[in-house]
Amino acid sequence: MIHPRYRVATALVLVSASLCLTAPAPAAISSPADTVFPTLGNAGYDVTAYDLDLVYHDDTRLIDATVRITARATDRLTAFGLDSVGAQVETVEVNGQPATATQREEKLTIAPATRIANGARFVTRVSYTADPRMDVPGSGWVYTDDGFAVGGQPDLAHSVFPCNDVPSDKARFVIHLDVPSRLTGVASGTLRTTSTAADRTRSTYVSEHPMATELLQIVVGEYTVVTRKGPHGEKLRDVVPTAKAAQLEPALALTPGQLAWVEKKLGPFPLETYGIVPINTDVPPNFDFTGLETQTLTLYRSTYLVQPEAKIASHMMHELVHSWFGNSVTPRTWSDLWINEGHADFYGLLYRYEKGWADSRGYTTMADRMRYTYAQGDLWRSTSGPVAVPTAATLWDNQRYTGGVLVLYALREKIGEEAFNRVERTFFAKYRDRSAGTEDYIRIASKVSGQDLTAFLRDWLYGTTTPAMPGHPDWTVTPVTPTPSASGAFSLFSAPPSLPHDAASATL
Ligand SMILES: [Zn+2]
Repeated sequence: MIHPRYRVATALVLVSASLCLTAPAPAAISSPADTVFPTLGNAGYDVTAYDLDLVYHDDTRLIDATVRITARATDRLTAFGLDSVGAQVETVEVNGQPATATQREEKLTIAPATRIANGARFVTRVSYTADPRMDVPGSGWVYTDDGFAVGGQPDLAHSVFPCNDVPSDKARFVIHLDVPSRLTGVASGTLRTTSTAADRTRSTYVSEHPMATELLQIVVGEYTVVTRKGPHGEKLRDVVPTAKAAQLEPALALTPGQLAWVEKKLGPFPLETYGIVPINTDVPPNFDFTGLETQTLTLYRSTYLVQPEAKIASHMMHELVHSWFGNSVTPRTWSDLWINEGHADFYGLLYRYEKGWADSRGYTTMADRMRYTYAQGDLWRSTSGPVAVPTAATLWDNQRYTGGVLVLYALREKIGEEAFNRVERTFFAKYRDRSAGTEDYIRIASKVSGQDLTAFLRDWLYGTTTPAMPGHPDWTVTPVTPTPSASGAFSLFSAPPSLPHDAASATL
């Protein structure tokens, strides 16, 4: 996705009510390097659990929220940062004591009353008010007619809750939702308790697997929960707009068959449950997407799913495969996004061709599609960067999607299908419930295949020109002709537009 980003004014704002306002702002906290989003992430601690409590008021459309963050210090801390934007912060406590908090740009810097020792476990509690209607594009809240959903990828989860908003710091989640009883509230993970009193229903969801902040889903609105069984007894759960349940059922009923197909390729489903939430507003005002792989509950545009199977099934497979690549294994940094999107498109396309459906370009085999994609290689490397070298502006380009597929295809051509399948399963088994980077994939590929593939894969992933395709010496790359731009710098003739996430994956 490419969002016009939500930004607050950059002025220093003291936000915490019970705080010592004369204290100077603590020194800036340095962030771990992510070249795509260099300001995200915070040094000095590792989050182990988030406990989120949201009370939604349908009259004001506001949320009274509390997040309780359990973390382990990896340094001695007199102050630490959280990524946060848009929240109206009310109180901040660390280990039960009021703390000083300073909001600057998208960082909430917290100075605890008592210094935290290196290695110590500590609990930070932030209470705040959230407004899902943030009247600007690019918020992680997806505002709907009847409530809201959440779409935090890639760098927007911290507009939903203060957090360490990097995919490498995965944590357990407990989510409490308190909503009017006429509405339904569902979150990532599985339902543990629910109770109703005075026309309000309170539910608690628990994630059984560690989850990246960007993958959290919380949806509130006029929904019905529909359960079904997967091919090996998996618990499937769709959250369906009540008024559109019958219309959407043909699409939702495809999941068990799709799951059976992908489990033959990649092994057992890796998470506690799976399902789809087609949201109740076709075109939310602040979000542009077709599908988004929020963990255990994929967000979808309802209108997309009321199309014939041949039109939607490879996109549904793409989102399902993200349960393995993207969710169970999350990217270490956003430069590793091709691991998510390349794999999701690779299996989405394989599924399409096995079913005999032509793709969006009319091709009916992977080889034909890859020959076409190969021809674009140098152009894409010029306009979108190498496959594993995106910028924030090129992150959601085709280069991360079918460009990533091309890398996987080249590897399969080089080492053979049997070895490739072992690489895939070995990589997944080693990094499930963790995060992994491009170099991890290269290392596993070399180890499993028994060949040193370092130079081969680095050329494919980081090179500025397209390498030769193994087994296809007749394939050619369309030359790129630079032409002088008006400014005197070089621009590229017929450069493709930068496609948003869903447009790219919809090109399956
Ligand atoms: Zn995707």
